[in-house]
Amino acid sequence: MSGVLARDIKFVGGVGELRAKVLEREAGVRTIGDLLMRFPYRYIDRTRHITLSEVDESMESTYVQVRCRLVGKSYVGEGPRRRFVVEALDGTGSAELLWFQGVKWIEKRIEIGREYIIFGRPSLYRGRVSFVHPEIESVEQALSRKQESGFQGIYPSTEKLSQSVPIKAMQTIITNAWQIASTDPSAFADPLSEQLRRRYGLISLREAIYNIHFPQSQELLRQAQYRLKFDELLGVQLTIQARRTERHTRNNGFLFPRVGEHFNTFYHHKIPFALTGAQQRVIKEIRSDMISGRQMNRLLQGDVGSGKTMVAFMTMLLAVDNGFQACIMAPTEILARQHYASMQRFAEGLDVRVAILTGSSKAKERRLSLEGIASGEVDILIGTHALIEDKVQFANLGYVVIDEQHRFGVEQRAKLWTKNQQPPHILVMTATPIPRTLAMTLYGDLEVSVIDELPPGRQPIRTYHYYDSSRLKMFGFLRGEIAKGRQVYIVYPLIKESEKMDYKDLYDGFESISRDFPLPDYRIAVCHGKMKPEDKDASMAQFKSGEADIMIATSVIEVGVDVPNATVMVIESAERFGLSQLHQLRGRVGRGGEQSYCILMSGEKLSKEGRARLEAMCATNDGFKLSELDLKLRGAGDIHGTQQSGDAFELNIANLSTDTQIMQLTRDEALNILAQDPKLEHPENVLLRQLRDKHCKRERIDFSDIS
Ligand code: ADP
Ligand code: MG
Repeated sequence: MSGVLARDIKFVGGVGELRAKVLEREAGVRTIGDLLMRFPYRYIDRTRHITLSEVDESMESTYVQVRCRLVGKSYVGEGPRRRFVVEALDGTGSAELLWFQGVKWIEKRIEIGREYIIFGRPSLYRGRVSFVHPEIESVEQALSRKQESGFQGIYPSTEKLSQSVPIKAMQTIITNAWQIASTDPSAFADPLSEQLRRRYGLISLREAIYNIHFPQSQELLRQAQYRLKFDELLGVQLTIQARRTERHTRNNGFLFPRVGEHFNTFYHHKIPFALTGAQQRVIKEIRSDMISGRQMNRLLQGDVGSGKTMVAFMTMLLAVDNGFQACIMAPTEILARQHYASMQRFAEGLDVRVAILTGSSKAKERRLSLEGIASGEVDILIGTHALIEDKVQFANLGYVVIDEQHRFGVEQRAKLWTKNQQPPHILVMTATPIPRTLAMTLYGDLEVSVIDELPPGRQPIRTYHYYDSSRLKMFGFLRGEIAKGRQVYIVYPLIKESEKMDYKDLYDGFESISRDFPLPDYRIAVCHGKMKPEDKDASMAQFKSGEADIMIATSVIEVGVDVPNATVMVIESAERFGLSQLHQLRGRVGRGGEQSYCILMSGEKLSKEGRARLEAMCATNDGFKLSELDLKLRGAGDIHGTQQSGDAFELNIANLSTDTQIMQLTRDEALNILAQDPKLEHPENVLLRQLRDKHCKRERIDFSDIS
């Protein structure tokens, strides 16, 4: 932004020193350009009034406008609770207007008996409509006021900001800012050529900015929104597609040309089952990256239980066959230990050394692993995020597998990269399938493999939702399953906000189970995050070996735990879990050939979203469908609990979950543009380059380039 848009906002009429400070601190707004690039998130049609009788619960805390006559005033209460109350009538009903502050000023400005336009957020208390600190304007005044638009924009705000700059003041400020900006014909120069605009039916940037603040009609508002979303998503796509192209031209990948002894011995003689078609295909895809000369950056999506571990192991053997080390990083201690156990078993009889390193590795284990890694004696290292500590020095790291990708932050993953001069090949495995729309935006420059087939013989898990009142029925069912020799999980939510509470629910639940459910006959293992790793391990081992019938746990067991004989997953307070977490937990059963069940327990009172989640779980086993729904319910910024999408791109108006069509168009257009001018160096693309840079917050961390 240059020229007039770069001017300090404090010179805009209605701002001044104080508000300028608040605007900067609360909203990062310093210049006229900053101000005009903040868009309303909703609009009120100020040409429309409602009547008091129309106010209902659905309108609580939304802005409405009412025309009514003031018929009485009084002071109520004492001290700080003292308030000024005005009675208002509009012929259909009555309302109370309340002021706690600025009472003198308001009292002077109103005249009982006259008609006013009231603008504010109604609340209903004992059937009465009231407005706290409404905006109020005489009808004459409202009619004479010159307005840019019949719509009033409501801007994102914070408590402090709205105290300092109330809605109407914001409107005035924006109007003044626009008037200054519009004197400069070069303000809002259009980054999109006329030809391009015509192709996509886009209005000019200037028109769009004007109409986003002062919509001249519903239609123009829609067009303005469309245009501004297009710009944002084009900016995002220009970044992603450029990285993709660049990565494809970089020839810096390790070469693993050989399919050697380890892989072949394992594949022909040792593998405990036949690979599924999907597993075979994915291994081929990975192998073709490993011989391409380019560094692999591949995302492997496969629903829970689809057999990703085997793919990881076999492709790690490819690295070892070519003289490289490989490592796999798991999100939890339990999962790392489990991978270690299964990979050690797989590696038996192969000349491959497997080691483990986690945060709680004992001194000896730690020393042996660190030495072995540094000397190159260890071929495959398994661990938690302890692997990214500086102390861990690989002799020759060629391949990194990251399991359950969403648990790791971008920075953490980026750190592994620095372990080598040359970047290792990277495989990121996720059991929470990412909806295609989101994958396209966020991982637009990653290769994606999908395991879309479960190992044979699996029966779909049956999922039921019980209210707490049907607890006895649930216990009865568990008894039946245990009598058949099966095992059962009962999972309690882990309360993040309070460390102390972490397993309180679990123990409370445990007690109530012991009360309602005669235990002596059953052997119970317990597992939660606060236990020492060796106790956790012992507990898991007890369950795994069949010594325990019931595993009572917090969601620490969520990822990866593999006990094929467990056929029932009971999830307590299921409404408190996210959808992907529920799906993950359910994936702990249904791993053997037996019919498995998931029972979601909940209280009677459910929020709309909570209910939608439980219903979705009962309706489908398909992780992709669930993640699409999750995206809808939670929005893209929040998916996987990483807020990665939110972190990586600065989006004011576009929405990654709903603007999929624009995303597709901008993707294609970005490719068009980059084909002509890969680095956006042509003079006519200066503004496009700014657009690209504006929406990607973080230069340093290359989000989609996960290595
Ligand atoms: P996830 O993809 O959730 O990580 P795992 O790798 O833990 O799944 O595999 C789930 C279970 O399926 C494991 O017990 C594994 O040994 C088994 N498994 C994997 N692939 C096959 C296959 N092709 N045939 C039969 N069982 C398999
Ligand atoms: Mg797994």
